[in-house]
Amino acid sequence: MATSSPLCQLNGGCMGCCGHDFPSVQSIRDAIRENTVEFRSARPQSEVDFHTFRDRRSPMDLRKGVCRNLITENGCTLCPLHPARHQGKDLRINHCDIDYLCKTAKTFAKWSPEKQEEFIKFIQNQNLDNITYSLKMDRGIILKEFCDKEEKEEQNNLCSVK
Ligand code: SF4
Ligand code: SF4
Repeated sequence: MATSSPLCQLNGGCMGCCGHDFPSVQSIRDAIRENTVEFRSARPQSEVDFHTFRDRRSPMDLRKGVCRNLITENGCTLCPLHPARHQGKDLRINHCDIDYLCKTAKTFAKWSPEKQEEFIKFIQNQNLDNITYSLKMDRGIILKEFCDKEEKEEQNNLCSVK
């Protein structure tokens, strides 16, 4: 879960880049639920505890395509290794690519603040659950829908001034 884009925090937390080859929305939910049970049982407190939890399996040993560190807390999907939970120390280093950004987030970063705001509204209007949102973000589906809409509006505007 990269964090340098505001898009990563929308809809209860995006998890689109916390795994790959996801089989289905339900299996992602099941995997996160199982991860959460393991996390609660481990109850990590110290940095060593968090590393022990993280290293219980290798980074490539995913659960139904999902990273085994991804959990839910108060209805949000999150990574318990994130620096925001460790006074700025990033416990994800050496486990996943902390600088990764999906194509959608990279494209979003190049837009004007107005266009970014429009895109966020476009996302909010879809009322997606967080897993569907994550998959649509990672696969660039929302980005394509938004660009198609923009293109259509542009064509309509051109037609109306002719
Ligand atoms: S898939 Fe994109 S929006 Fe989602 S967490 Fe990863 S970088 Fe952020
Ligand atoms: S360690 Fe955290 S940020 Fe990295 S892939 Fe796993 S859940 Fe996502």
